[in-house]
Amino acid sequence: MASNKQDRISVTLKCTECGEENYITSKNRKHNTERLEKQKYCPRCQKKTLHREKKK
Ligand SMILES: [Zn+2]
Repeated sequence: MASNKQDRISVTLKCTECGEENYITSKNRKHNTERLEKQKYCPRCQKKTLHREKKK
């Protein structure tokens, strides 16, 4: 089982309501091929909103 650091990529999580890019996280691109979606607090909306991985 090889764990290669290059499998981890950084992704930007963007608020789906206002479009603000609030979070940067990382994921394993081999194990997470779907786009990330997370409920996160958005400072601009001042509430929790759905954040989605920014399309590169
Ligand atoms: Zn927002």
